[in-house]
Amino acid sequence: MSFKVINPATNETIRDVAIWDEKQLEAALAEVASATPLWQATPMEERCALMRTAAKVLRDNSEKFAQIITEEMGKLIRDARAEIEKCASGCEYYAENGPDFLKDEILESDAGKSFVAYLPLGTVLAVMPWNFPFWQVFRFAAPALVAGNTGVLKHASNVPGCAEAIEFVFKEAGFPQGVFRSLMISASQVKKVIEDPRINAVTLTGSEPAGRSVAATAGQNIKKTVLELGGSDAFIVLEDADLDEAVRIAVASRFLNTGQSCIAAKRFIVVDAIVDDFVSRFKAGVEALKIGDPLEESTSLAPMARSDLRDELHLQVVDSIAAGAVVVTGCAPGEAEGAYYKPSILDRVEPGMRAYHEEFFGPVAIVIHARDEDDAIRIANDSPFGLGGSIWTGDSARGERLARRMQSGSTFVNGLVKSDPRLPFGGIKNSGFGRELSHHGIKEFVNTKTIWIK
Ligand code: NAP
Repeated sequence: MSFKVINPATNETIRDVAIWDEKQLEAALAEVASATPLWQATPMEERCALMRTAAKVLRDNSEKFAQIITEEMGKLIRDARAEIEKCASGCEYYAENGPDFLKDEILESDAGKSFVAYLPLGTVLAVMPWNFPFWQVFRFAAPALVAGNTGVLKHASNVPGCAEAIEFVFKEAGFPQGVFRSLMISASQVKKVIEDPRINAVTLTGSEPAGRSVAATAGQNIKKTVLELGGSDAFIVLEDADLDEAVRIAVASRFLNTGQSCIAAKRFIVVDAIVDDFVSRFKAGVEALKIGDPLEESTSLAPMARSDLRDELHLQVVDSIAAGAVVVTGCAPGEAEGAYYKPSILDRVEPGMRAYHEEFFGPVAIVIHARDEDDAIRIANDSPFGLGGSIWTGDSARGERLARRMQSGSTFVNGLVKSDPRLPFGGIKNSGFGRELSHHGIKEFVNTKTIWIK
């Protein structure tokens, strides 16, 4: 049994990585269990110093890590480098701010002294996806480890090289053996790990079915869970928007990472007054994207991560067209060998079509027409998802008012939806629960402990 790694730009198998047997898994869990109490007892300043060194290790190996990312999941090489830099600054952010976020909180009561101490929970299992194969892991690991938890990672099966590289970062930075381990296990072995008494909490970033399964097991075992699941973010364009800027960010947001981002703009909800103008400008921007080899610096649209995912996306597109959606551009696999899909726009998407209800995890933009702002918000909220979203208007007070009405974990007015270590990140509805990043994120995996002294 092995993970077969296929380069999506060429469809060539680049390596086979053996999946662990029960004995190997047991040895890793035992190692982490013995590291946990020692790590909890390590002073916060020491944990933070190690996290700063992890940032340095990331930067020192940036080119090597970026190559692994691109080879395994196909991302543009320049985006892979940027991802490594984002991880390094994430580590520094928690090294800098973690101690303040977790300092004791004095609360007045009938005690002589009463306060809340934020103490580590133990070992957190992270089940992670391939789309930002370093950032998704560091977004969890930097705060969790600074808080005094240990971590075990079950990474997506198409990025085992990334999983090994991340374990290397912590080892090379000097973290004690067992504070962070990558487990080379399949999805079917996850249930057993969650049930293991040495695991105290679980975080999953990935699809809705994976989230349901992991949360069900965690619930059975009464273990804290954070779920960061899919999204179908609305991008509402109102008649007073700066259309040049809206179109520029529409292209960036939908096609970044070949459309394989949970917080990509996916549903472009545009009011009737400007929809034709928006679509024709959007088409020009999308057709200017250069599809090709992700290692070429001039490429602006990389392949998707796997051919099976490309084929699934195409089926969603074909079904939507059969139901009446209008092809503006693309909507077909790329011509080259590899998991390529043409940059695409589907217009006049309506209820009943797959494009209206499902997440399209690839380079396909969905345009939905709205009568006015109330109709646009109604459509935005007519979704099982609630991750992010954006509103484009020349009137920021109008944007703020509508942002409150959008059912999502975050709404940006006149800006690209992105994750930022300083701001909480997460969703509502079927996009999951819990938050990552900021002081909200670091407090997900701590014991919020009350101490009362007479
Ligand atoms: P996925 O198939 O759910 O895989 C994610 C991880 O879960 C992988 O490690 C996978 O392992 C594992 N997994 C899958 N089924 C499982 C199960 N039944 N039990 C335990 N583990 C299981 O998702 P993906 O295709 O990699 O990622 C795309 C999805 O993730 C999209 O829906 C996207 O929107 C979402 N996403 C959300 C966020 C967010 O922050 N909200 C961020 C990025 C992506 P294997 O690879 O071995 O199957």
